[in-house]
Formats: sequence, structure tokens, C-alpha cells
Amino acid sequence: MPKIKKAKKSRVQLVKGMKDILADEQVYWSVIRDKVTEMAKNYGFSRIDTPVVEFTSLFKRTIGEETDVVSKEMYSFVTQGGDKLSLRPENTAGVVRSYIEHGMLNLPQPVKLFYIGPQFRHDKPQAGRYRQFWQFGFEAIGDEDPVVDAQMIVMSYSILKDLGLDVEVQINSVGDSECRPQYLKVLKQYYQGYKKELCADCTKRFTKNTLRLLDCKSKRCKELADEAPQLVDHLSSDCKNHFMAVLEYLDEMDIKYNLNPKIVRGLDYYTRTAWEIVESGEKGKLNALGGGGRYDELVALLGGRETPGVGFAMGIERVILSMQEAKTEIDKTKSCDVYVAQLGTEARKKTLKLFEELISKGFSVAENMSKKGLKDQLDAANKRGAKYTLILGQKEIADDTILLRDMESGVQEVINFKKIDRELTKRLEALQVKLAKVKK
Ligand code: AMP
Repeated sequence: MPKIKKAKKSRVQLVKGMKDILADEQVYWSVIRDKVTEMAKNYGFSRIDTPVVEFTSLFKRTIGEETDVVSKEMYSFVTQGGDKLSLRPENTAGVVRSYIEHGMLNLPQPVKLFYIGPQFRHDKPQAGRYRQFWQFGFEAIGDEDPVVDAQMIVMSYSILKDLGLDVEVQINSVGDSECRPQYLKVLKQYYQGYKKELCADCTKRFTKNTLRLLDCKSKRCKELADEAPQLVDHLSSDCKNHFMAVLEYLDEMDIKYNLNPKIVRGLDYYTRTAWEIVESGEKGKLNALGGGGRYDELVALLGGRETPGVGFAMGIERVILSMQEAKTEIDKTKSCDVYVAQLGTEARKKTLKLFEELISKGFSVAENMSKKGLKDQLDAANKRGAKYTLILGQKEIADDTILLRDMESGVQEVINFKKIDRELTKRLEALQVKLAKVKK
């Protein structure tokens, strides 16, 4: 390689709050993606992908101008054409916009959609909190029946259980635009006497986002929230009945839940059921792995016909951190059927072609053409979890044969070069039968 003059400039680094997802972590991502896709298939949800960029007004109108997400954390910019846009801080608003824009109101309801994608919030980075993070989420739009809420809660719970996590549901009802304003008056009256004791953020929240006073994490605010009047005692009879019905379904399904009057969720568009999924025990007091809620007024808020909806979202990075801490067993070996090893220039030429042929025949194959020694190549084959290794040297080229090594037993046989795929298929099939018997 020609020598390149050392650049005088400093090294370009990763943007603060962003994260590279490296090879070692990718196995967790695949496990989660597979689980989400399997769940979606079982429950009849179709995938939707909306753009990462939307009009800023979409989020202001739905999430609410006074929320932390919109007022402090959005990546907003004006384009050269003068459009006011933002990177999405969450995905529900975009999905609902798309639901209205593409006339999904005319499809059989509820329309069930799921997504997996990056979200952006200019928050203070720390463990489990990034400025670009990924969420998967499920939305059921067009049905107000409490059974749909219960089913969504069960899904959000089961996904994490299936991923090996010990979790529980924290649940509340945040009422609707009819009963919530009455409650907010009561809540303000309660806090009026303690205004001087509130933290700086809560002093602002008192007038602008009263409900969020309940989920402040600072010590004194937490104590005050513990004693505050509860929303469930001020629900309209419709909201109360809806909530009771959701809880009855959860009881029926043996889901571990806690009634938690402090679950208010950070976004304005939620109505009625609101829940979070947290790890059981002490860890659950830290960050939630995901959360969801009903949003019966959201479609109308965006100019559509009044349509109820319910959904939830989970943070993938947080789920992975918990899986790593819980030492969830996942198959880390990217195992392959066969590894092709070569000794000498002629053999390398021939294996290059063989490698392509085996791939085109559907085998999962691995190689390291740049490695020269057999030991190095066998080590690499072991690392890749190869079941068999094909070894081609000078002698085999002359005989039109190849060595087939069983990586578990170490036994090597000479086979006819032209019969490689037949021999491999035969052995791999036998292996499958053996594995199936062991599993039984
Ligand atoms: P939210 O939309 O705020 O209800 O968030 C739903 C889930 O997304 C949370 O429970 C987290 O798992 C995840 N999440 C939210 N914000 C972040 C962030 N800044 N970094 C990583 N994950 C996040």
C-alpha cells in the first residue's frame, strides 16, 4: 500500500448521544427483530415504515407544545425551501398521520400496524439513554373496546418475557378531555400550597403541564406526588368502566400488574389506559423498557374522523441492556454449514469458485481466502461454528478430490470433487435428523 501523509486534522468522532451497533451486539438485534416479526404475524399486524422526518407541526399538535419531548428534545430545522421539519421523536404520530392520509379509515377496523425504526431526542445522554435510539411499536387503530387494550398490554408483556426478562406492568388511566380538566383543577389546588418546594422543572410544569408533576424524579417532588389526589378517583363513569374492564381482562390472563397513579406518560395525546413495562424488583424503579396507551382523540386532532386507537413502543437499546444484564441465553454463534479452506495459489483459485457455487446452491458457507495456514483456517472454521470444513490442497487438485472434515469428531474423508454438494447434503440432512431427535 502506498504511504499516505498523516492528516493534520483531528479524528472525526461519533456524534454525542449516538451509538454504533457493532457486530457483537447485532445478535441481540436479530433476536429482537425476529421476535417482533413473529409476534406481529401471530397477532395480525402489518409492517409500516414512515419517514424519519415530518412537519414539526405534527409533533406540536399531537405530543403537545409544553411536553419535554417537544419543547426541549426535538431536532428541528428549517429546510432551504422554508419547511419547518423535525426528526421524529416517536412514531405514533407519524403512523396516525399515514393512517389518515392513506384512507385507512375505510379498511376493516382496527387497522393493526407495527414498526421498527430510529427515533431522535436531544436528551442528556447516559446509560440506556441516547439521542438516536430505536423503538419497535404496535398500533391498533379503530377500536375502543377494552379487550384491545388488554391484548396490547399482553403483547408488550409477552415480548419481553419471551426475550428472557422478568417484567411487570405498571398501569393507570389518564381519563379523557372530559374528565381530565376537572382532575387537573384538583391537582393544582393540591400543589398550590407546596409551590415553593417544587424543583425548577416542576415550577414550570405547575402551569404548563400539570399532570407531569406526578412523575418527577426529584426527592421532594416525589414525596408530594405520593400524597397527591389520584386521577382514578376523578374519572368519568365511561372512563372508569373502560379501565375496570381492561383490568378484568388482565386478571383473566394472569398478567402481573400494579395500579400506579403516577403513570401519566410524557405525551399529551394519551387518553384512558396508560401503562409502562418495567423490570420486576428494584431495577424497575429506574427506566421503563417500554410503554403505551390509548389515544382516542389523536386521529381527530390530526384532522381525521373521530377514531379510537391504542398502542405501545419499546426501546430496543434498553431491552438489549436488560437482556445483557439478565444474561439471557441467545445463540451467539453465527454457525454455518461449511467452511472452505485452501492451501496454495491453485487451490485458492479453485475454492473461490467453489465458494460461490456452494452459496448459489443454498449452503451457508464461510471462508478466509487471505489466510494461508491450515491451522488458522481450522480455528476460523471453529469460530464460525462450521459443521464441516472442505480442505483443498495440491494433492487433491491433482486427484480431483477434496477433504471433508467433520468439525465435531475431527474425522476426515477424501471425497470426489464433483460430488461435494451431494455428500454435504447427505451429511447435513443426517445431522438435522439427529438434532431433531435430541430436541424431542
Ligand atoms: P416513550 O416514547 O417516551 O414512552 O418511550 C418508550 C420507550 O422508548 C422507553 O421506555 C425507552 O425504552 C425508550 N426510550 C425513550 N427515550 C429513549 C432514549 N432517549 N434513549 C433510549 N431509549 C429511549
